[in-house]
Amino acid sequence: MQPPNLLTDYDAVGFDADHCLVKYNNVELVKFLVKIEAEEFVELGWPKEMAEFDYENDLPVCLNATIFDIDNGLVIKLAKGQEVIQAMKGINKKLNKQEIESVYGTPPIFKNYQWPNTTHLHQNKGAYWVFLTYFDTPKVAVVLKAIELVNSGKTSKTYFDIAVDLRTMVYRFYVHYNEKEVHPIATFGKYFSEVIKDPSRFIQFQPELRDSLDKLRKAGKKVFLGTNSHTEYANLIMTATLGDDWRSFFDIICCACRKPLYFWDMKPAPFYVVDPKMPNLKGRAILDANDLSAEPHQTYIEGNSKTLTHYFERTMGIYDREVRVAFFGDHYITDAHAASTNPGWDGIAVVEELALFDPELEDGKESQHVITDKSWGKDAYFADGTRGNLKLNYFIGQVEDSARYMLPFVRNIDMWMGQ
Ligand SMILES: [Mg+2]
Repeated sequence: MQPPNLLTDYDAVGFDADHCLVKYNNVELVKFLVKIEAEEFVELGWPKEMAEFDYENDLPVCLNATIFDIDNGLVIKLAKGQEVIQAMKGINKKLNKQEIESVYGTPPIFKNYQWPNTTHLHQNKGAYWVFLTYFDTPKVAVVLKAIELVNSGKTSKTYFDIAVDLRTMVYRFYVHYNEKEVHPIATFGKYFSEVIKDPSRFIQFQPELRDSLDKLRKAGKKVFLGTNSHTEYANLIMTATLGDDWRSFFDIICCACRKPLYFWDMKPAPFYVVDPKMPNLKGRAILDANDLSAEPHQTYIEGNSKTLTHYFERTMGIYDREVRVAFFGDHYITDAHAASTNPGWDGIAVVEELALFDPELEDGKESQHVITDKSWGKDAYFADGTRGNLKLNYFIGQVEDSARYMLPFVRNIDMWMGQ
């Protein structure tokens, strides 16, 4: 398929923030997350050994798009047809073909997984947790270490407890807001406080993106941000990426936007005007596109793609045809796939691993890839096997089917803005 032309194919272009517009130093981030997540497990009652990592050997297990098969205590990689092509029962402790078939049958199929789910947490009923994006890959090392401890009898915890503790940890680290209130991130969990101290340790400043976003807006495109991060963290990471005036590059900004529900909820959430006086920061609720401000650079909490599409129709005067929207995101399900389910919308997947195959796309910047060859085999992210018998990664196959296109970094979009 031909790559898109953002200037001629679309009326509006939207971006996810984390691992999309915002480029993290992945090696630094993944190392840091493995450390604090394992430490949290120790606080949740795991043996101290849990937090002992040999990063040189252990980090290469952190492969994107793997699945924790909770019932069987394995981290697996799937190929097309949900075939299990690799499995580990500990850090770099791989199962051979016979062992895999003894668990999953011949051919070995992981039948429990159902696209487009990301987790299924019912004990002994085909439970699983899918690791997608660079925020999830550190969990692979943590889970494999925990599986080893369960298998060695050094803990009375079970495989299912690993998932329960993962969920507790996610809530303690990242879920700093609920319906009633938003907690300041500086005093919430082990993650945010460290990023606040020195954002540049984790996030790359990308001044060149300012030109790309400017070019889109000068060409008459509506440019918007749709991030699940709440307003305070979104401000921190976007400032680190573009500078203090980052809002000036967007017509509309949606924070805490509940993807994938943003794209397909049967009961779409309103756009809440930010009100610092409210404990949950939610001011006036807007559900009618006519009530959204025509002034650019507005920040809202939540919102939904249907109302946003009407907003584009109204503000751009497009009534005789479908509005065409491109949405960039690194999450294959909640960004690329979910956005694509809207009429006129194309999801575009940000797949950093692609840069390993085309160094020209690196743009001279330090990409900081977590190289997983040592644990999963050379270039195993996209396909496993030998020439002539390559088996495509299941999730890459799914994203190929649902997204219009893939690219490694948003800073590559200039090549899609030809005349
Ligand atoms: Mg993201």
